[in-house]
Amino acid sequence: MKWAILSDVHGNLEALRSVISDLRREGADKIAFLGDAVGYGANPRECLLLLREIAEFLVAGNHDWGAVGLTDVSYFNNAAKAAVQWTGGELAEEDRTFLRRLPLVHQSGGITFVHATPNEPGEWNYIFTYPEAEEAFRSLAEEIAFVGHSHSPVILAKKGKKSATSLGREAAILEKGTRYIINVGSVGQPRDGNPDAAYGLYDEGERKFLLKRVPYDIPTAQEKIMRAGLPPSLARRLAEGS
Ligand code: ZN
Repeated sequence: MKWAILSDVHGNLEALRSVISDLRREGADKIAFLGDAVGYGANPRECLLLLREIAEFLVAGNHDWGAVGLTDVSYFNNAAKAAVQWTGGELAEEDRTFLRRLPLVHQSGGITFVHATPNEPGEWNYIFTYPEAEEAFRSLAEEIAFVGHSHSPVILAKKGKKSATSLGREAAILEKGTRYIINVGSVGQPRDGNPDAAYGLYDEGERKFLLKRVPYDIPTAQEKIMRAGLPPSLARRLAEGS
């Protein structure tokens, strides 16, 4: 069984379509979506509908719930706030109902799928530091958690009581008896300096994780953001991967 794990599409239809072509070429059997279908990009509805069609399940991201008034967006920066408000106006009632009903966590076969952290999924905390990683591992009963939210891919491992370590971002064979928190990066707004769309592939039989990068039509995604009247910084950052 090969999972394709997608996160943080953020209304970027060009990136999502390129990733879907790539995961089909890779022979992925099932698609998991870790939240933030909407927010920032110009095609929130189209992305949400496509994800609903192809994914086994979706979990909620802070932008998904922010767009339907389910989570506080006062801490969002100005561009994010403007985008979440614009997105709210684009969504149909049926989309809003769907987003409101999304769960925060999905568990299946020893794997936790969550947008932010396994310990407090509705607090939308980030895992940037080792203390934050330790905190997240503390409540991780399952062996593996796939997360998104920071838009920065990383593979974190914790063996028994040893300190959590980073295994980089690209690939790892997951050992039994070790716990992992793996950030699969962002499809629609990468922030790790590489503008290519990111998603994860996990082969359950081989216990092999691989981060994939997929080039996509950035100029079209940027043009749509500008035409929609969204903040220009949201278009600029796509080319920078920032
Ligand atoms: Zn996000």
